[in-house]
Amino acid sequence: MVITAAVTDSKEQLYYTFASRYVRAPLPRFKMPENSMPKEAAYQIVNDELMLDGNPRLNLASFVTTWMEPECDKLMMDSINKNYVDMDEYPVTTELQNRCVNMIAHLFNAPVGDDETAIGVGTVGSSEAIMLAGLAFKRKWQAKRKAEGKPYDKPNIVTGANVQVCWEKFARYFEVELKEVKLKEGYYVMDPKEAVEMVDENTICVAAILGSTLTGEFENVKLLNELLTEKNKETGWDTPIHVDAASGGFIAPFLYPDLEWDFRLPLVKSINVSGHKYGLVYAGVGWVVWRSKEDLPEELVFHINYLGSDQPTFTLNFSKGSSQIIAQYYQFIRLGCEGYRNIMVNCMENAKALKEGLVKTGRFDIVSKDVGVPLVAFSLKDSSRYTVFQVAESLRRFGWIVPAYTMPANAEHIAVLRVVIREDFNFSLAERLVSDIEKVLKELDALPPRVSTKIDHKELEALPPRVSTKIDHVTAVANETEGIKPDNHHLREIASYWRRISNKKTSGVC
Ligand SMILES: *Cc1c(COP(=O)(O)O)cnc(C)c1O
Repeated sequence: MVITAAVTDSKEQLYYTFASRYVRAPLPRFKMPENSMPKEAAYQIVNDELMLDGNPRLNLASFVTTWMEPECDKLMMDSINKNYVDMDEYPVTTELQNRCVNMIAHLFNAPVGDDETAIGVGTVGSSEAIMLAGLAFKRKWQAKRKAEGKPYDKPNIVTGANVQVCWEKFARYFEVELKEVKLKEGYYVMDPKEAVEMVDENTICVAAILGSTLTGEFENVKLLNELLTEKNKETGWDTPIHVDAASGGFIAPFLYPDLEWDFRLPLVKSINVSGHKYGLVYAGVGWVVWRSKEDLPEELVFHINYLGSDQPTFTLNFSKGSSQIIAQYYQFIRLGCEGYRNIMVNCMENAKALKEGLVKTGRFDIVSKDVGVPLVAFSLKDSSRYTVFQVAESLRRFGWIVPAYTMPANAEHIAVLRVVIREDFNFSLAERLVSDIEKVLKELDALPPRVSTKIDHKELEALPPRVSTKIDHVTAVANETEGIKPDNHHLREIASYWRRISNKKTSGVC
């Protein structure tokens, strides 16, 4: 890379906004450049490269907040230079996180008095929260087994096959076996009965999901609690429940206050929620709360002394930004229960409008439920001519990012598209999306019919590698954004088959 001579005279400065005036060679990608460059040029180069990213507001793949009020943006920018971990220096920030923990614990009906401090912590997201909760269960189980003189080297955790990928991470990083209840066609969440059957003396907890990543559906935690209570009585074990409320934790308390999924159920010992999903804060904040002090093993808690008082901490990371915590507190006091309820009701109405628009096309089956997280998951009624992967790909041309993926075992043959409705997705965008989907369907309908529904493997092998990497990228959009687990090979093949046809079309062959 060559940077042209340093800008010295003021006339040159007139033109120095565009990086192309400085850059004569490819940008450095592997080695740090030897020389400095003017700040304006650096800004322009980075900014211009970023223009090729998708537009976050049109990213319908993600639950994560993409819009906040300008006042909150300002608060976040003002605190961007505060390290959260410096509790001595920033005691007010620490206090704000503690207040958030209290508010969330109350929202989830933890058995704490009105002015009692709740047990919980702010994290980078639900993934860190889940690592901490899982670790607490593992330690508690191990301590109990040790005390009983029983082996404690084969812990397991029971979940549905629909769990988010972070549970697999937890299992692998912390050496816990993941026992998954398989799904079936038409039933895409963990069956509580089968889950309880899978529980054995080595089970550290059963993890239920409030708002499945795949369909937004709430798992039946109440029934799970009942069945597990019975099993515990019969066996003498005391297997607890964790609720992964990453996406549903700020939906259920406002939209379905009578739904019992939280600490009202005695076996629920910890709950995580993503502040950056329906907690309405930008990426970088999650929460985990425990039912009581007894549910968090003391040996995992580190005590930091700040301003003479004891601040217990339990996190994986040390340093991190303060902005998200501050923003969470802002949202809680700015919106209050009333504000959160209004926003969630509005999201649900927009989800309903989108669902109705999709039903009207006559081309889709709706896979998501009316009760759950505001999203619409839908599959093609007829995928003999083209698949949802191709619909997703074509929608990108209009700027929409809509993920397509297959369900986990044993429903791998079902492939769906999913649109997450966030606060910033309004009614007219829903209408627009439906009309763009209609356009895409019309185009795809016009493609020549598939000769055979069987995939020609020879043809597939002959494809240039570029094609398959692109396919990987498409599925990766869904996988990376929401931690949807990699889909099965078969559907990838179908997707690449269709990709080849669409590629031919764009290159004028077809
Ligand atoms: C998003 C999600 C996670 C991971 O949460 P992050 O906040 O992105 O780390 C875990 N579980 C479920 C059910 C989710 O939807």
